[in-house]
Amino acid sequence: MKTLPRTIDGLRGLRAATWVRESTAGQYDNFGPDAQREQVARAVERYGLVDTGVEWAVAHSGWRIAGHPAWADMLGRAGEGFDVLVVGYASRFARSLEAHVDARRAFHAAGAAILFADERILSSDDDAWDSWAREVVEAESYSRRLSRRVREGYAAKRRRLGTPGGNRPPYGFRREGRPPVMAVDEERMAVVRQAYELSASGMRDREVAVRVGLKVMHVREVLTNPVYRGRLHRGEPSSAGAAIDPALWDSVQLVRSRFSRRFPGRQAYPSRPYALGRLLFCAACGRRLIGDTGRYRHLDPCDAFVGARPDSPPARFPLVRVHGHSYAAEVYDRIVPAALAHVAASATVKASVVELLGERSAVDTLTLARIQKDRDAALARYVRDRDPGALEAEMARLDAEEADALAATRSVDPRTALDYLANLPRLWGDADPERRQQMAGALFERVDVLGIREATITPSPEAVAHGWREAWGDTVLRLSDRGDYGRGERI
Ligand SMILES: [Zn+2]
Repeated sequence: MKTLPRTIDGLRGLRAATWVRESTAGQYDNFGPDAQREQVARAVERYGLVDTGVEWAVAHSGWRIAGHPAWADMLGRAGEGFDVLVVGYASRFARSLEAHVDARRAFHAAGAAILFADERILSSDDDAWDSWAREVVEAESYSRRLSRRVREGYAAKRRRLGTPGGNRPPYGFRREGRPPVMAVDEERMAVVRQAYELSASGMRDREVAVRVGLKVMHVREVLTNPVYRGRLHRGEPSSAGAAIDPALWDSVQLVRSRFSRRFPGRQAYPSRPYALGRLLFCAACGRRLIGDTGRYRHLDPCDAFVGARPDSPPARFPLVRVHGHSYAAEVYDRIVPAALAHVAASATVKASVVELLGERSAVDTLTLARIQKDRDAALARYVRDRDPGALEAEMARLDAEEADALAATRSVDPRTALDYLANLPRLWGDADPERRQQMAGALFERVDVLGIREATITPSPEAVAHGWREAWGDTVLRLSDRGDYGRGERI
């Protein structure tokens, strides 16, 4: 019988095969096949394994994985074609405790071992037995999806140990002792520090990801998690203390909130969402205006934009700063209700809108925008509670909703179009700030402004399909420092 590797350092030169399992419930998954392969590739390199190129990739429930033909094939070849099966994450090997235990026994009997790459646990390392057992038990208990009880348990654990709940500790930490508490993993924390420094220098998440060799999604998690500055998500102090200087952490939040691309208008610090989010541009130079601390700012402003500031100090609009680099968010955000009021009135009084419109088709972009928002929210929740069951269930629900919305691409008859336009002001009036941002995103491609002189609105395909152009005509919105915005002819 072959000798089993006793420690993770004894893996050098052994032959590795790969196991990748894709979850069936939802594809939206932090532990998707790419993430798993990445973990495997790193482990192979780190421990000096020899990649045999043998890989099993299955899309199957982790709960019933032992019934899959690939499982039997993999067990049958253990110790023959390879010595170590490298798995990205314990939970991606199998979800059932029994399957884990059976596989471990079969592997060791055949002189082979299983390595959980992310958790750095080798099945044949007796000293790692506790960790191995904990992981495989957790793999099963997660699949039981007792999300509520799980969350309650974690909340209690957080209070007790000052440790974030969830399947795995945040990147750069590991669990230590019993009961486990978080300890810094120096090698990984150095990567975290580098990510923070690069981000604070103004580098985008994507660029940071390339530099430090993490996935963008993970960089994002790392850069927003208060655990690195010594706080848990609900504000309690973390037992691990501050791994990143809180001042550096704060400046990263600030820089990221300014340049956030992926989540328009969403700030790392709680703040009001900007209705026009990332839709607002300078009409003269085409640069985007940035929502920042309650204002829209033209960074490094062009002369034309500055020149379009109000002539005299504003009387009724004290928030307007006269030097013309930035304006209070409401100055621009009120473009939306002003435009909606005009369009609604025009649609109602002008029979021409109805006549001009033939049948058109429209995708329900409002619903799609809301679904995207819900996806972001589900991911954000997942980052906090690490409950893959809840995430998968929510994503599967949203997948179904999205499929429905896409299937419901419908033709718009003139009467529907008129109702749509006429209802916009009321919808806007009833909406909360977040919903307003969604509405603006669904209605407008972009809004180009010049100081507070005029705004040019480019409607979305959805708005066009509902007769926006006919109702709006070829006009711009005249802005003024008194806040009374009216339509004007395009110059
Ligand atoms: Zn400009």
